[in-house]
Amino acid sequence: MSSFSSLGLSQPLLKAIQQLGFEQPSPIQELAIPALLAREGDAVALAQTGTGKTAAFGLPLLQHLETPQGFVQALILAPTRELAQQITTQLDQLARYAHGLEVLTVFGGAPIGPQAKTARQNPAIIVATPGRLIDLMERRAVKLDQLRFLVLDEADEMLNMGFQEELERILTETPAEKATWLFSATMPAAVRKIAKRYLREPQELHSSTGAEVNTDIAHHYALVHQRQKGAALGRFIDSAPQMRGLVFCRTKRETQELAEALLKRRYRADALHGDLSQPQRDRVMKRFREQELQVLVATDVAARGIDVNDLTHVFHHNLPDDAAFYTHRSGRTARAGKKGLSVVLLDRRDEYKLKRMAKQLGISFQEAAVPSAEDIKKEHLLRWHEEVAAMAPPMGISEDMWRAARERLDHLTREELLARLMQRELDQLSIQEVDDAPQPRKGNKGPKGFKGGKGPRGKKGSYADKWRKGPGKNQGGSRGKGGQKSFRKGKK
Ligand code: ADP
Ligand code: MG
Repeated sequence: MSSFSSLGLSQPLLKAIQQLGFEQPSPIQELAIPALLAREGDAVALAQTGTGKTAAFGLPLLQHLETPQGFVQALILAPTRELAQQITTQLDQLARYAHGLEVLTVFGGAPIGPQAKTARQNPAIIVATPGRLIDLMERRAVKLDQLRFLVLDEADEMLNMGFQEELERILTETPAEKATWLFSATMPAAVRKIAKRYLREPQELHSSTGAEVNTDIAHHYALVHQRQKGAALGRFIDSAPQMRGLVFCRTKRETQELAEALLKRRYRADALHGDLSQPQRDRVMKRFREQELQVLVATDVAARGIDVNDLTHVFHHNLPDDAAFYTHRSGRTARAGKKGLSVVLLDRRDEYKLKRMAKQLGISFQEAAVPSAEDIKKEHLLRWHEEVAAMAPPMGISEDMWRAARERLDHLTREELLARLMQRELDQLSIQEVDDAPQPRKGNKGPKGFKGGKGPRGKKGSYADKWRKGPGKNQGGSRGKGGQKSFRKGKK
């Protein structure tokens, strides 16, 4: 693997990269940066979500632009306001030591007047959502007649969102001699069609086939009835209190319902899907970023804009139809060399889908039990012990209170007292009922896993043990028992 300094970037850019804490270029950056620096023509770059595509086009772009010229030199199109703003933030950071290039962000859902006014001042770079850019073009607030670079970022998503007409219009109404760089996470037919029609002999920069394996991700599946998936998810959360996770659903409705069920049970969860207004989205994302939310339930599309790097878990409430989406989903965890867990909640009826996906992607899925009530209690008490041990000596207990306590409790031994306190603590927990996973079919003895290309055959073990010892290490342990019911009182 090479370093940023060997890619041909200028000193001011290298300095900014260093300050951002990027140590090594990601595969798409390693591929795209030298290629886009060397040749100004068109390009199609394909790499999965979260692999640093912004810097992969941003760095060569900034280097090509050099200085402000008094006209718009580059236009970057992104599907949503959130993504557009993220691009601008990143470009500002990367350009920190370079040539005072101005970056303007324009997007719908905000008053057009101020955006038009700034656009008329001809910033060097405009980052825009397609609809708003067209509006500004129609008002003649943006002049693109000297445009040198057009970047279509998250092209697949822009087309998914119905921006095809806008894209085609922008592609045709900008100078023919510009360089067009198309960046995408996937290459569906609609994207290929745009590339074929509007790009001239683009260089192909593919860092992924959508099927490569991130070895820092452990892939697990837990057998659970469809209707008990919410409860099972609750158990996973309870058994790993430090978890920070994304739960993927296939539809907006599924997303909303699951988030509501979790909220009702006082989990710090919320939903992210396409029906939310922009302010609602912003608020959910802010709460997730600031760790006020522990789990975010999202559709595949909505999760695109999430820029959060320290996720410990990705859950699949249902498997996606397309195997490539599984890779995108699970790739949200195990970023930057960290370990991560991808857990499929699998109804027995969908086993065949998982088998097919394992084969297609070359991934081994390991069976893991839904955490048992025992796992959760153990985990809860361990935490409680640690918290009590770490407490500062209590100061607020008066002599009177002490006297009263002694009168009532002195007959208990230390053991007895501690046992009662622990029991009280456990009574606070409410652990949802989850049936024992259906028994494996005949001839299928004990632990198993779905094997894709590589890796040892999976063994089943206690989920909580596995997580505590770090995902990926297949530790033995007890099987989930389930079936314990109680009620959760407001747990902070
Ligand atoms: P994509 O557009 O491919 O989904 P982004 O460009 O949004 O990915 O980058 C995802 C995250 O990774 C961002 O937080 C970004 O700052 C970070 N990042 C990008 N390149 C690197 C790198 N070389 N090293 C470490 N982090 C990086
Ligand atoms: Mg991106």
